[in-house]
Amino acid sequence: MTATLMDGNLLRDETVARLRAEIEALGNPHVCLATVLVGDDRPSQIYVRNKHKKAAEAGMASKHVELPPTATQAEVEAAVRELAADPTVHGILVQLPLPAGLDEEAVLDLVPVDKDVDGLTEASMGRLMRGREGHVPCTPKGVLRLLERYGIPTSGQRAVVIGRSSLVGLPLAVLLARKGIDATVTLAHSRTKDLVTVCRDADIIIGAAGIARLITAEHVKPGATVIDVGVSRTEAGIVGDVDFDSVQAIAGAITPMPGGTGPMTIACLLENTLEAARMLGTVPR
Ligand code: NAD
Repeated sequence: MTATLMDGNLLRDETVARLRAEIEALGNPHVCLATVLVGDDRPSQIYVRNKHKKAAEAGMASKHVELPPTATQAEVEAAVRELAADPTVHGILVQLPLPAGLDEEAVLDLVPVDKDVDGLTEASMGRLMRGREGHVPCTPKGVLRLLERYGIPTSGQRAVVIGRSSLVGLPLAVLLARKGIDATVTLAHSRTKDLVTVCRDADIIIGAAGIARLITAEHVKPGATVIDVGVSRTEAGIVGDVDFDSVQAIAGAITPMPGGTGPMTIACLLENTLEAARMLGTVPR
């Protein structure tokens, strides 16, 4: 058996084309994503560049603010405050992590909830927990989109999310358990005992621990869906949490790495940016 490949590049391209068509049908209103990058981390620079490239393909404007690694807390906060007050900016993304010594929470606190297209602020997380309308974090949302697109049943299914960060694992677990998605969710983490046994019962396994090849064939029930969020940089290149070669032989569906959840994170960022323009009244609902 060979697993169905859940192609994130393909679904991202479909999403970008759909957003472009929606924006064109609205008469090409100005919809703008702003990014803030502090420091000279190479992977972060590449992520941000891709976000701008895909925003342009979707028919959106974008703005980029770059600050040196020596930027002070006050300088970073001033940049975010300016974007927050700018009526021509709809979405604000602060590329994380910020260089050591800067207070991320204080910076995120300055992003207005409607412009918080990353869905990471306290207010967005509160909306998510309360089931209210708001921006859902992009990586978890991308995982849901992949499940939908590939027709993976979730209702009453057992899902294991590995990793409990507020960026990925925790919101994803909440979303999977939500009414309408209705999975029975286990949230595993670094203190979980016997991860193999926990995973072997699961219909859906999502690796978001950042541990290279943590999930092997022995974790996977035949036919289960396996989604890889983790990104580890090793000497052999970029490696996910899933040992792709062994797992694809047993899984029913699997994401490639790269080309799975990464592109979907960008697609969902752009979805959220158009939604932000709606929330802010620039674009009709
Ligand atoms: P994090 O370091 O904040 O969280 C990692 C989580 O994994 C923690 O909750 C920890 O308890 C858990 N964990 C660590 N070791 C474990 C183990 N041996 N067994 C089980 N659980 C373990 O990381 P994060 O920000 O949530 O990111 C997770 C991974 O996803 C990273 O590799 C990151 O690069 C990647 N990521 C990918 C995308 C994407 O678009 N594909 C987006 C964001 C993050």
